[in-house]
Amino acid sequence: MPTPLIAGRPDTREVLLERRGLLETARRQARDPGLEALIRDVDAALDRLSRGTYGICDVCHEEIGHAHLDGDPVARCCVEHPTPEESARIQRDLALARDLQRGLLPRAGLALAGWEYGYRYEAAREVGGDLCDVVPLPAGDGTLIVVGDVVGKGVAASVLMSSLVATFRSLASVGLPAGELLARVNNLFHLNTRQSSYATLAAAALRPDGAVDLYSAGHWPPLLRRGRSVEPAPVVSNLPIGLFEGTEYTPARLRLDPGDTLLFYTDGVSDAQNGAGDLYTTERLAGVLACPGDRDLDALVDRCLRDVQDFQHGQPTADDLTLLAIRAGSGRSRVAVQ
Ligand SMILES: [Zn+2]
Repeated sequence: MPTPLIAGRPDTREVLLERRGLLETARRQARDPGLEALIRDVDAALDRLSRGTYGICDVCHEEIGHAHLDGDPVARCCVEHPTPEESARIQRDLALARDLQRGLLPRAGLALAGWEYGYRYEAAREVGGDLCDVVPLPAGDGTLIVVGDVVGKGVAASVLMSSLVATFRSLASVGLPAGELLARVNNLFHLNTRQSSYATLAAAALRPDGAVDLYSAGHWPPLLRRGRSVEPAPVVSNLPIGLFEGTEYTPARLRLDPGDTLLFYTDGVSDAQNGAGDLYTTERLAGVLACPGDRDLDALVDRCLRDVQDFQHGQPTADDLTLLAIRAGSGRSRVAVQ
């Protein structure tokens, strides 16, 4: 019998009794077997409270912790040891979150004047912290491409990623020039997240005439393919998004001729590892990009992704992975999501 470590908060009994009262009322109105089970859970929690074992994990016998109990006052296990029911609920929640996050990716059929694009987005877990967006700017201002990586992984990173996407889209609709838009996004992200949160990203404001303003916020520059030559595109290094208030974002201006291709990527690509611990590297990605002949940009990003996966040779992917290619061309856009 473990020594009771915690007896809940002073008002835990009141919280549980209030919950029980609500469940009883609901049960009188509807004969739902699920309600019976919930009432049994509350009664069991009240019993544990009486016996002094409330708040102790059934598996490891350590404290469950207030943060977890505040969210689920009838929890029997700590976050490290979820019950089969809790595991199933978490999986359902994650599947829903994955669908919601997929819904934030650039939608199929989005037409960009004068540009083609294609992308692949692979989250290492159910949800990812990579940022991948194609944001139409107000009339005549072209399109903003954003590819980046929010610090961290999993659910926490995906929440920050979703908030960044929402901020970009909201501010883009106001009609700000791209540099000012990035500065505002930086300030809002800095103000609204914890100090340790930041995102690196590469962004490109595309004009229909082939002019590109390329921004790097602490992120690898995209690879630029002209003919058979592939090299990192010229960028001005700026600070990551969210690190400091008041950061300004300076672009490098370039012009892409028809057929010239920019390939944006996240470190899930360059830092992918094989079984021996070797890194995939940007150089290898450049080698793949240098081979022409893809029928479109979907085929190009597919080929890049396949090469990363071949290199990994079955090793589990440790980080989220995004590849996005743009090309000055016919004006048809190509989008695909795996
Ligand atoms: Zn435990």
